[in-house]
Amino acid sequence: MSMVFCRGCGKEIHETAPTCPHCGAPANPQPQAQGKNNYTSYDQVPWYRKNWFAILCFFIFTPGLLITLLTGDVYYVRKGELKTYSMGGKIFLIIWVILSFVAVFSEP
Ligand SMILES: [Zn+2]
Repeated sequence: MSMVFCRGCGKEIHETAPTCPHCGAPANPQPQAQGKNNYTSYDQVPWYRKNWFAILCFFIFTPGLLITLLTGDVYYVRKGELKTYSMGGKIFLIIWVILSFVAVFSEP
């Protein structure tokens, strides 16, 4: 229970009152709720809130891919035959990870 002063008559009114009960003036603007962002244009939205989906994908797939690459062979099947990625294929995947890192974390 907290009181604020009316901008119209200066009397104390409850902070959640939409209007002053003494003079009817509209109450002071509500203080912004903690943790809420009231952006009015897309330019104001920080990059990590714009790219949340890419960042989410990055944090899910990249650690798994890196762990897979660094702990052994990466397998795939071609024409029913079990194969492993060559060193070049692994390097390609690592470059892919680095490029996705740059794409996600560099501001456009
Ligand atoms: Zn008032």
